[in-house]
Amino acid sequence: MKRLSIRFRITFWFTAALILVVLFTYVAIFFVSDQILQKTIRDNLIEIVEDNVDEVEFYQSIADVNLSDDVDHFIRYGEGYLEIDDDFLDAVNQVYTALYQEDDVLLYGENPISRQVSGVGFADGHVQHIHVDDRKYYIFDRKLTEDGLEELWLRGVVSEEQGTVQNSTLIQISIIFLPLLVLLASVGGYWIAARALGPIQEICRTADQIGRENDLKKRIDLGGGQDELHQLADSFNDMFEKLDKAFEAERQFTSNASHELRTPMSVILAQCEYILEEPRTAGEYEEALKVIQRQGKKMSGLINDMLDFARLDSHSDRYGKENVSVTELVTSVCTDMALIREKGISLRFDAENDVTFYGNRELLSRLLINLISNAYRYGREDGHIFVRLWLGNGKLCLSVADDGIGIDREEQQKIFRRFYQADNSRSGIGLGLGLSMAQEIARFHGGEVIVESTPGKGSVFTLTLPMP
Ligand code: ADP
Repeated sequence: MKRLSIRFRITFWFTAALILVVLFTYVAIFFVSDQILQKTIRDNLIEIVEDNVDEVEFYQSIADVNLSDDVDHFIRYGEGYLEIDDDFLDAVNQVYTALYQEDDVLLYGENPISRQVSGVGFADGHVQHIHVDDRKYYIFDRKLTEDGLEELWLRGVVSEEQGTVQNSTLIQISIIFLPLLVLLASVGGYWIAARALGPIQEICRTADQIGRENDLKKRIDLGGGQDELHQLADSFNDMFEKLDKAFEAERQFTSNASHELRTPMSVILAQCEYILEEPRTAGEYEEALKVIQRQGKKMSGLINDMLDFARLDSHSDRYGKENVSVTELVTSVCTDMALIREKGISLRFDAENDVTFYGNRELLSRLLINLISNAYRYGREDGHIFVRLWLGNGKLCLSVADDGIGIDREEQQKIFRRFYQADNSRSGIGLGLGLSMAQEIARFHGGEVIVESTPGKGSVFTLTLPMP
């Protein structure tokens, strides 16, 4: 319904704009062409009258006239005769020319408004106009100057409507063409709008399908193209891709978590079954309880991790923020962890003074502990760990470098996934959640953790956090 209305609205506005433009163009054309026509009419009038000037002659005696040319007209005039040549155009194309005596007496020719112009004085070489019955007439006079003709005038008249006739043809044509043009344009516009909005229909259909079938693998296919709707479809497809990945990761996480919980649970159940089979000694009971406690701790750790991920994901306010002195945090964590000295590894640190950050102290120290623990876990015998804190390019940077076993290039991005453990990890130690937790904490603070590593030489994990 909405789609139709957009289509309709586009066509409506388009058509309305078109009608306006066409009307405006026609008005402009009529106005200009009317001006041109009126000028042409006046020029034509002047030309005909001027041509007629040479067609009038005076003769003293009829004997002087060459009478063989018997189509000419003769009028007795004063002491002689006027000869009006047969080329004299008294009525041509609605332009009328008449020969007048100075006292307004019409001697020869035609004038349809002779009575009305009788009061209009002769004006040699000037176009005058008068209105007769709401119609405008142009008048052009020429005084004859040849011998014997001094008191005679030629007067031409023409109605301005001579041109209106031509203009009205234009009007008639446009009256047929304008609605036709508008009709054609609206049908065309509607068709183009329908075509242009077609992809939106496809986008809606796919989105509907995804909603109904819960299938995030579906994609919008508009075929080739680069226009805005194709870009919109691409954005939607990207979003579906990301959502699909996120849901997939979520599913994977749940399945991995249940798997990880099942193992200690099985151990606990097996241990209980075994110990309850027959009466045991106090030592055996203690041993069994210790196993159960160990497995219980493992489960509790995992459950806590899962809770933390959920809280970080939802940005819950469980983790309040404050101004944390990162310099102090790094110093205290490193001082404590340097005491581990596992595998003879030594830890050194270098922290820039007075570095503070608005964040969650507990999470930031957990991140650092995770990175240092990994550096110990994947470090070599008698190796080194170097922790460094500095400010650069408006960012807080904290790196943990080790000279341990390193990570293969293909695995460097995967290690941030939840439960992912690279080939180099000795199974059983961790759960593959340390780095994903570190990354999640970095993101919670608007930053990220990146890794640079060379297998056999060591790794550097760097946290960058944007400073306000
Ligand atoms: P885990 O519990 O296995 O340590 P993590 O998420 O902390 O899980 O790390 C994921 C994987 O990344 C580890 O299994 C290990 O293969 C690799 N890794 C992490 N830190 C280092 C490091 N400093 N040096 C080499 N490999 C590392």
